[in-house]
Amino acid sequence: MRLIRGTVIHSIAFGEIQLVEDGGLVYDNNGTIQQIYDFSKQATSPEFLAQFKQVDDFRGKLIIPGFVDAHCHAPQYVFTGTGMDLPLLEWLQKYTFPCEAKFANEEFARFAYEKSIQRHLKCGTTFASYFATIHNSACKILVEVINQVGQRAFVGKVSMDRNSPDFYIEDTQEGGEQAEEFVQFVLQQTETGKKFLEDLELVAKKVSPANEECGSPLKKIRTVSGSDVETTIVVKNNNCSSSAGLPPKVRSVSLD
Ligand SMILES: [Zn+2]
Repeated sequence: MRLIRGTVIHSIAFGEIQLVEDGGLVYDNNGTIQQIYDFSKQATSPEFLAQFKQVDDFRGKLIIPGFVDAHCHAPQYVFTGTGMDLPLLEWLQKYTFPCEAKFANEEFARFAYEKSIQRHLKCGTTFASYFATIHNSACKILVEVINQVGQRAFVGKVSMDRNSPDFYIEDTQEGGEQAEEFVQFVLQQTETGKKFLEDLELVAKKVSPANEECGSPLKKIRTVSGSDVETTIVVKNNNCSSSAGLPPKVRSVSLD
């Protein structure tokens, strides 16, 4: 067991915050929190402290849960703070697409993603939902980098077959296959993911043994769950017209 001592602020239920002024976070060797200790209410004998392999004393500082970033474009860290002069669609054309296109180069992708993920962690983001680029090789590098530092994350490959320049676009069929391959790659990373793939295989066979639609993970998910997997995010009003032309089955979520 290990202990970090300091002022602990955490949520014990939805809408409820607890502040332990002279607190301690007790965690095991796997990093799992076992207890929040209150030094003002509980005994602090030398025997108590002796049970910990490591004691980090941060009294006078705050200990808070890690931040969760629900929408984050990992490659765009490269040009953070620039291009604030343009509305979204023009900004994408001038800054974002040329930068994201560079992630076709694996060396550049690794360099940029290492910087991006380290910066996120340094700012306290311990869980993030990352968007990458259209390149499978770079998406896999992003997964590797996240695994190396032990951050928790969702990673999504960008699928883009329209509204972007010639140098940063993918063929619909090929892009779909790449997306499926990436889902497979991510699921193979963990035991839970592998189990999910196995279950999917079994269920898909039962649902439709001779259905060609069951040939790949995304198609299987679609077949088994009976739902589409595409989602379009409409970020700003001036983006609505470009999403309006999409097939009616594609669902939209507005974050405006
Ligand atoms: Zn976004």
